[in-house]
Amino acid sequence: MSFPFLIFGGMNNNPKYILVTGGAGYIGSHTVVALSKRGYIPIIIDDFRNSNRDVLERISALVDQELIHFSISCQNKERLRGVFSQFPIWGIIHFAADKSVSESVENPLKYFDNNMGGLVSILELASEHEVNNFVFSSSCTVYGEPKKIPVDESFPVSHNSPYGYTKKVNEEMIEQFAASQSGFKSTLLRYFNPIGAHESGTLGEEPNGKPDNLLPYITQTAAGIREELTIFGDDYDTPDGTCIRDYIHVVDLAEAHVEAMNQLENPPTPIQVFNIGTGKGTSVLELVKYFEKNTGEKLKYKIGKRRKGDIPAIFANTEKAEKDLRWKSRLTVEDAVIDAWKFEQFIRNKRNRE
Ligand code: UDP
Repeated sequence: MSFPFLIFGGMNNNPKYILVTGGAGYIGSHTVVALSKRGYIPIIIDDFRNSNRDVLERISALVDQELIHFSISCQNKERLRGVFSQFPIWGIIHFAADKSVSESVENPLKYFDNNMGGLVSILELASEHEVNNFVFSSSCTVYGEPKKIPVDESFPVSHNSPYGYTKKVNEEMIEQFAASQSGFKSTLLRYFNPIGAHESGTLGEEPNGKPDNLLPYITQTAAGIREELTIFGDDYDTPDGTCIRDYIHVVDLAEAHVEAMNQLENPPTPIQVFNIGTGKGTSVLELVKYFEKNTGEKLKYKIGKRRKGDIPAIFANTEKAEKDLRWKSRLTVEDAVIDAWKFEQFIRNKRNRE
């Protein structure tokens, strides 16, 4: 493998290596692109349990660089230790985790094992190798069912599922670890609903099997892979009766990680928490309409029963991220549906060629 600092030499005299666990995944891959474009050197750790190996080639084509990557599970501390010994890692972004709410209800132990175990092993290695800059991929699921909206970072944390429980406990684990570790700093990013794809249409969300999430289900329905979309309930106490979420474009979300890394150089406090959303709520029906309007595709859908565990409405108060992280979403839900549709077609064409 070639060492990118040789390639980068003249451009950046002191490039920082960032370990990105889950770097071939949906949010991870976009973040790797954003980090590379801003002069960081990402090191991708991914065992491809929920991602495709050819994502690496697509990332590499977008950033026009060779990538450093290792196919290792986050729980394989021995092999990961080799990576920590080989590179002077400056920071870590920890994405690698299981993320399906419904699967976590069926199989909570899988979530406790992977989401807790992966974090413990990464923090142990961070401690051993004195890597003090840590960004954690958290979720608005830690707000449970909030008493009012928009939610800000001071709201009480709670959980609605084993998956949500792992995120809540992971945040607390990082806080307690930081208190024990002089110099360790961490930023916890609570994502709202990431959607969309890279504007090139070559990176995006590639769920294994039937999608859980709304926009991939919409694009797969429009592509003829799914029969029709079921809207889970239209009898909620919202203007059109369907649930409201804060859909954040994945490219904006990726940028938030770069800002968080930049800020860890000199953060105001060792632990910081930010909501990463748009501050705007969109209903399920509105998202369907945006999709139809912006792609010209007619979507087949029906109204079904409520999905267990869904909360009626949530969206972010993003003032803290705007003020302290100097980050704000730039792209719209309409951009996201256009990009996601582009990606759906890219994937179809790719599969047809294979
Ligand atoms: N949803 C839906 N049909 C689907 C998938 C999702 O109506 O096939 C709704 C779901 O009930 C929720 C919203 O879309 O109100 C967003 O769901 P998603 O699973 O994408 O994210 P969540 O907010 O649950 O994490």
